[in-house]
Amino acid sequence: MRQAEIGIIGGSGLYQMADLDRRREVRVTTPFGKPSDLFVLGQLEGRQVAFLARHGRGHVLLPSELNFRANIYGMKKLGVERIVAVSAVGSLREDYRPLDMVLPDQFFDRTQGRDSTFFGRGLVAHISFSDPVCPVLQDALANACAVTGCNYHRGGTYVCMEGPAFSTKAESQTYRAWGMDLIGMTNLQEAKLAREAEMCYATLAMVTDYDCWHPSHDAVTVEQVIECLNKNVENAQKILRAAVRTIPAERHCKCRSALAHAILTDPRKIPAATKKRLRLIVGSYL
Ligand SMILES: [Zn+2]
Repeated sequence: MRQAEIGIIGGSGLYQMADLDRRREVRVTTPFGKPSDLFVLGQLEGRQVAFLARHGRGHVLLPSELNFRANIYGMKKLGVERIVAVSAVGSLREDYRPLDMVLPDQFFDRTQGRDSTFFGRGLVAHISFSDPVCPVLQDALANACAVTGCNYHRGGTYVCMEGPAFSTKAESQTYRAWGMDLIGMTNLQEAKLAREAEMCYATLAMVTDYDCWHPSHDAVTVEQVIECLNKNVENAQKILRAAVRTIPAERHCKCRSALAHAILTDPRKIPAATKKRLRLIVGSYL
């Protein structure tokens, strides 16, 4: 039975959603191992929401330690169709200032060897990922940012680095020269896996710092990030509430059929164990 329609993944600073009515916690098992934490189910503006603290409550998991597949699969299993990812990011451009909200529309992968696909083990599929963010979900976030009156920017490229250390100046300057706008450590894998699972995905990025490239700002520190986050998390909660109100109930975007022409393997060749493991994701195509 469907337990939630909208998923919220809370990043650094957003470890809970205080606003959820009729909240309850559920442990979700997956064929890919353990998610970051229990999922918190509840109602927000009358919509069924599932919340997951990306790094676990108490912030116990490094970006490189996250089980992205379990987190996204868990959302799918609960019935979620749309995921809003809230993330703290560094800014690589002057006009995306600390405390601003940004809705990036592109990701660039600089991570190393993370598990970023549900496929394999005899099932080959290639999703289209040229536009990794759901435009409808991003519309809802943009409207919500406007309604709440925060400073926000629509569009930008989020470079996903491995971490956990922040960038060197040489890296930061290079990302700027490449045309990157934001830097973070987690969203690329989530977006990719959400697309594979035919879920809509959009990021609400909270700018906390200027990474280390800015000549008149100190290099980013955890202290600086936390101070900015504490100011920003309240805004993020308001934006989420406003967004949930306007997300359409029905989906007409391409995300919902991302696998329609993606599976290459002859169904007769797919091992039974793989079919079973991925039934939730590919079941309707096999
Ligand atoms: Zn979509």
